[in-house]
Amino acid sequence: MEPQNCVFCKIASGEIPSKKEYEDDEIFAFHDINPKAPIHVLVIPKKHIPRLVEVSEDDVEVLGRCQLVAAQVAKKLNIGDAFRVLTASGEAAGQSVFHTHYHIVGGWQETPEMEVKKEFP
Ligand code: 5GP
Ligand code: ZN
Repeated sequence: MEPQNCVFCKIASGEIPSKKEYEDDEIFAFHDINPKAPIHVLVIPKKHIPRLVEVSEDDVEVLGRCQLVAAQVAKKLNIGDAFRVLTASGEAAGQSVFHTHYHIVGGWQETPEMEVKKEFP
């Protein structure tokens, strides 16, 4: 998929509205439109990297910084003590938007009905 047709490129540019949590020149973080946990934020590099498997050496710094942003967002949203960072690469692995993104999920303590699954899939 080309960047001009990519929903996350459009969110990062502001063309599609989102509930933004963080932005700098290279990174954008926003709440998932269909949350699977009480707190569910997506952290993306603004660069259109379709799948993690297509990452290059040039992307190392920005993807590392995505984890720093994930930690900062988690602390800001008061889930710093318990959150997960998840990513899928490839359709068969569950990736549905082909612009690399990290799911930040947490906040289960406040809503026991969405209690965290103890095992990773
Ligand atoms: P994936 O399935 O690729 O791992 O994750 C894609 C995520 O993007 C899904 O959790 C989905 O709810 C979210 N998503 C898809 N389209 C939009 C959108 O237009 N806005 C927001 N905020 N999230 C979206
Ligand atoms: Zn994109």
